[in-house]
Amino acid sequence: MSLYGIENLPYGVFSRPRGERRLGVRLGSSVVDLSPLGGLLAAPTLNPLLAAGRAQWTAARAAITEFVSRGADRIPLSDVTLHLPFEVADYTDFYSSEHHARNVSAILRPEAPDLPPAWRHLPIGYHGRSSTVVVSGTPILRPHGQLGDGEFGPCRRLDVEAEVGFVVGVPGRRIATTGFEEHVFGITLVNDWSARDIQAWEYRPLGPFLAKSFATSVSPWVVPLAALASREHQPQDPPPLPYLQPPGPAFDLRLSIDWNDTRVSSPPFASMYWTAAQQLAHLTSNGADVRTGDLFASGTVSGPERDQVGSFLELTWNGAEPVKLSDGSLRGFLADGDKVTISGTAIGAAGVEIGLGEVTGTILA
Ligand code: MN
Repeated sequence: MSLYGIENLPYGVFSRPRGERRLGVRLGSSVVDLSPLGGLLAAPTLNPLLAAGRAQWTAARAAITEFVSRGADRIPLSDVTLHLPFEVADYTDFYSSEHHARNVSAILRPEAPDLPPAWRHLPIGYHGRSSTVVVSGTPILRPHGQLGDGEFGPCRRLDVEAEVGFVVGVPGRRIATTGFEEHVFGITLVNDWSARDIQAWEYRPLGPFLAKSFATSVSPWVVPLAALASREHQPQDPPPLPYLQPPGPAFDLRLSIDWNDTRVSSPPFASMYWTAAQQLAHLTSNGADVRTGDLFASGTVSGPERDQVGSFLELTWNGAEPVKLSDGSLRGFLADGDKVTISGTAIGAAGVEIGLGEVTGTILA
């Protein structure tokens, strides 16, 4: 079975050599051009469909499924260039894996290794930089910055964060957790590249700034929520405040991280403490609005085991326990020329395993 069969049909934007951008859906190792369907599907980006709302999302998916079933033309992925699938409005990043938060506390704040006091009361996050969200495959230039007192230069502790991104379709404010599926169109894989030495020096008290804003990579594919199976979320202790209840759907996504072709970790999204519906409710609870094309990411996905963590900070315990890659080399953090690929699968709404695409990037000096 293909991970990209008719049960999945993630959306992307592609172009052929000298051609214009078109909306498409992935089918196997091909893309199907949606422009013959006209209307919202003839746009060169997903944003008009995102803005149109859930009834239109359902209608579009039905029309595409029929179009593909009738034998629409397939273009091999090797013949196209994939682009950012939507114009990113604002970008917010959360911190909702308890295993990740505890590991980071233990590594960066050994004198106070517990969770931050508010962690179990609200989904902690920060506002990222949408102008540097780039599509998978875009090379990542090693950032420069202050690495400590009196030192400026290239980052020496360049890291990844394997995350799941949620793409907002319909604008809104004070969105209840029960409104999640009316406002959020789908998911995409995210790599929140992180400069740990810059971060450790700058982050107190206002959180990450230049350690994160240089680049964030996303998969070229947006998997609609309609393609995903969901389940009830696990109980939370203490019970969240009423505006964060009910928790909304949980998704059993399985991520994988490959470092230069060595699989180093397989983070389980099912282990996340806060749901995406709670993140969106919290993000808009003060009256701030979200817009079409807003992207909010889950936070680094880390499970309880060392081979389930979503960052190299955790995998190598801040470089103190390097990992051996398949070519025999040892790594603490990213070297120039290193390539990282995050991929993922899920159980789809139709009960079969589906692919979530992949997000890859290579480090340049
Ligand atoms: Mn992050």
